[in-house]
Amino acid sequence: MPENRDLKKIVIITAPSGSGKSTIVHYLLKHIPQLAFSVSACTRSPRSGEVDGTSYYFMDVDAFKEKIAAKAFAEYEMVYAGKYYGTLNSELERIWNKQQYPLIDIDVQGALRLKKNFKNQALSLFIQAPSIAELERRLRGRGTETEASLQERLAKAQEELLYAHHFDACIVNDDLATACEAIMRKLTEFINN
Ligand code: ADP
Ligand code: 5GP
Repeated sequence: MPENRDLKKIVIITAPSGSGKSTIVHYLLKHIPQLAFSVSACTRSPRSGEVDGTSYYFMDVDAFKEKIAAKAFAEYEMVYAGKYYGTLNSELERIWNKQQYPLIDIDVQGALRLKKNFKNQALSLFIQAPSIAELERRLRGRGTETEASLQERLAKAQEELLYAHHFDACIVNDDLATACEAIMRKLTEFINN
C-alpha cells in the first residue's frame, strides 16, 4: 500500500464508445487490488445483465436533478440526448474510506472536468481504437446498439478523438494485452508516487 494515504487520488479512464474501455477496466480491476470501480449515477434504462448499484445507480431524471441541486456530483454530463450520467461525491468517499482509489469510467467532457479539479491527484487516460472503421466493427460486434445509437456513438467518437492530447496518456487499444500492459505500467507508477 502507498504510504501517503491522505492523498485522495483518482484514476480516470475515458474513450469513445466501443474502443475497449470496459474490457480494459475489467482487466485493471482484476489485477490492481488498490482500485475500486466508481459506480456512476445515470438516467438511461438498465441493459440486460446490468445491476442497480453495481453497474450504475439507475435513477429517473427528477431524482438526478435533485442531486444536481444538492451539489452531490463531482461532475455530471448529458452524455447522450436526454441521458444524464454523473460521478457522486459520496461514491468517491465510499471508495477512499475503503483505502482504495476510484477507477472512474466516464465520457471525455466529464473526464476533462475531473482532471481540471483533481490536477495531479488524478491520472487521466484516453483509450482509442486503431481506427474509426475498427471502432464501428467492435460496436457492431458487441451487439448492444440500435443503428441510430450506433451512428450517434460514431459521430460522438469523431468529436472526442480531437481531445485525446488533453489527457495524461493516450493508449491505442490495438492488441488488448499490449494496451493493458502499457496502462498497468502508468497506473503502478501513479499509485506508488
Ligand atoms: P467500450 O467500453 O469502450 O464501449 P468495450 O470494452 O465494450 O468498449 O469493447 C467493445 C467491443 O470490442 C467488445 O465486444 C470487446 O470485446 C471488443 N474489444 C475490446 N478490445 C479489443 C481489442 N483490442 N481488439 C478487438 N476487440 C476488442
Ligand atoms: P453506457 O451508456 O454505454 O454505459 O455509457 C455511455 C457513456 O457514459 C460512456 O462513455 C461512459 O464512460 C459515460 N459515463 C459513465 N458514467 C459517467 C459519469 O459518471 N459521468 C460522465 N460524464 N460520463 C459517464
